[in-house]
Amino acid sequence: MEGYLKIKCGKLYDGLKNSLQEDMEILIKGKKIIEVGHNIPGPEKLETIDLSDCTVTPGMIDAHVHPEFFDWRDIYTDTVYNSDGYRTLATARTARKTLMGGFTTIRSLGWFREAYELDVKRAIDEGYIEGSRLIVSSHFLCTPGSHGDMTQAVRNNPYLSDYMMKEYPTCGNGADFFTGAVRREKKMGFDFLKIMATGGFATPNDDPDDIQLNDAEFKAIFDTAQEVKISVTAHAYGPRLMKKLIGYGITGIEHGSLMDKETAKLFEDSGTYLVPTFVPYDDAIHCDEDSLSKKSESFRKKLEKYQKLLREGREIIRESKIKLGYGTDMVAVHQNYESGWEYNAWLNSGMDPFRALAAATKNNAEICEIDHLVGTIEPGKLADIAGWKRDLLKDPDALRDCAFVMKEGTVYPTEKRL
Ligand SMILES: [Zn+2]
Repeated sequence: MEGYLKIKCGKLYDGLKNSLQEDMEILIKGKKIIEVGHNIPGPEKLETIDLSDCTVTPGMIDAHVHPEFFDWRDIYTDTVYNSDGYRTLATARTARKTLMGGFTTIRSLGWFREAYELDVKRAIDEGYIEGSRLIVSSHFLCTPGSHGDMTQAVRNNPYLSDYMMKEYPTCGNGADFFTGAVRREKKMGFDFLKIMATGGFATPNDDPDDIQLNDAEFKAIFDTAQEVKISVTAHAYGPRLMKKLIGYGITGIEHGSLMDKETAKLFEDSGTYLVPTFVPYDDAIHCDEDSLSKKSESFRKKLEKYQKLLREGREIIRESKIKLGYGTDMVAVHQNYESGWEYNAWLNSGMDPFRALAAATKNNAEICEIDHLVGTIEPGKLADIAGWKRDLLKDPDALRDCAFVMKEGTVYPTEKRL
């Protein structure tokens, strides 16, 4: 017989109301929340967890993680020096560490190479290893030379670069290639598709405004995705490409950093979500010379070129009514499991803390398509619950300091990140 457990909350953010409720209690049975309220009369055999010194929230969700690295500095040499097995171990470790930071679900945005994220997800779901629940993206759907093509790490050795290209099932050219790639990824059981459709800041020979798939290739991806019923998101910065993607009926977009007002309106009208990933561009926006000096010269030059537009884009996103998700995309500066940093970036950009909290809970559960299971604290949902000692409404570091975490009714150890 599964026991009853009661959590006494100092304050409660339930993911539904823009307020912190005082002296609430959560009654849990087994894996699920069965009641939320004041002075809930407990059944006889009742274990109590006293979190009266905490603000209690739903388990947080990070919707943009690249879990495949032990250290972000590895990504520049990964293509050549890391095995698939090593990357898989890193994925398992990242999932464990995000859980210890209060993030009970993470959405992996995939990688060019294999990292067996689906195996890690399965092992966590089956209870063999501990970690955040994983929602897993396909390998990048991308073209040669695009931001998703990691063989450019060895571009100075074209023979090696061309040889490695043959290994990647989702990087290629032409509509037929992408029809096949979508069907393959669907077969393997990926939760959603990720298109790398525009240039990036970190890749050397492209530009964030570039469009790296042609219309026939896009159409093949979106038509096939619709046929086999799988959602699509895309890495995109510039308005030109974002407008095109919204026209194709994309479910959501990652980054959107060069947002303009016209495109923001299209997001609002279509209900397309945006995971804006503020923290990786914080050093450019706030002119952090120390952090910028650690980046490659081409990366730095692009950030400088786009600094003004990045600042304006962030303001437009803040002032918009776009449905926002919370995601970190940590592949530089911070480690990939330090999901709490994004809260810092949002609050320091003048975002309403309740908008940030909703993004990291209810909205992200919808983005991950698991809102029937998690994302809010209400009867019937899984008991994914976090506790925080710092003031969530005022302290930008609050989500880097998790005091309590429970996933599906089980309490896990926490790790301080400050
Ligand atoms: Zn990313």
